[in-house]
Amino acid sequence: MNKTALITGANKGIGYETARQLAARGMTVLLGARDPELGQAAADKLRAEGADAHFVRIDVTDEESIAAAAARIEADFGKLDVLVNNAAISGGLEGDGKPSSGTLATLRQVYETNLFGLVAVTNALLPLLRRAEAGRIVNVSSEVGSLAGRTNPNNPLSQMVSAIPYTSSKTAVNMATVLYAMELKDTPIKVNAANPGYTATDLNGNSGFRTAEQGAEPSVHLATLPEDGPSGTFYGYIWGQDEYGRIDW
Ligand code: NAP
Repeated sequence: MNKTALITGANKGIGYETARQLAARGMTVLLGARDPELGQAAADKLRAEGADAHFVRIDVTDEESIAAAAARIEADFGKLDVLVNNAAISGGLEGDGKPSSGTLATLRQVYETNLFGLVAVTNALLPLLRRAEAGRIVNVSSEVGSLAGRTNPNNPLSQMVSAIPYTSSKTAVNMATVLYAMELKDTPIKVNAANPGYTATDLNGNSGFRTAEQGAEPSVHLATLPEDGPSGTFYGYIWGQDEYGRIDW
């Protein structure tokens, strides 16, 4: 039986590419999407390329949809090998984009998706990941949420003015990654955070300098780690060095 991977927010962008690349490695891919039409269209597109791809409706802010997705995966597959927590929103630009210009409403909205959604999905799918031989959880994070990067004067991130919602939600995702990895350290499940690098997608008005194919590579790497691979790490594109490696939290 193929390994099965669920990727949230897989109807487009980095999530879609992650699904495509995991399918190319022989996995059955479940494309999580909140919009049934977009999700089904994305799964159809991958199936036309020969992938074993299926649409699963999942809105990460809707616990009922998460529970229904978990029940369906259990009924159809009995277990889950890979969970890629990819869905996220940026919160958009408020005022001049400085921390003091943001609203609490946006902060709450971004956390609902990027942090609470990730935790809700992970907790709901963990029983199925425990049934897999070698479960892998990939939390798609971002270097913009790295406290080490932000406070290192030699890192370009220390010069970047950012609003609080998106960046701090990814800092929180990083901590969630570390804490899940600690909880699961005596199991075969590995939990890591991925940094796609600045990638041209709808999230940033397609302003990134990396392609979605490239942006998916760190997630795919972490989703396919061997038994002796790491857990509790932050891995991906290193800004300024144009290579992959460990990112400082
Ligand atoms: P994207 O093209 O905007 O895709 C985001 C995906 O998340 C879409 O499929 C979107 O669905 C989905 N989504 C949003 N809210 C959702 C919800 N409540 N439930 C389910 N799905 C939801 O952005 P992307 O750049 O590919 O982002 C993918 C991941 O990479 C995110 O975690 C992002 O933070 C991270 N990342 C991106 C960059 C970059 O430069 N692009 C850099 C670092 C990290 P809809 O189509 O329905 O909106």
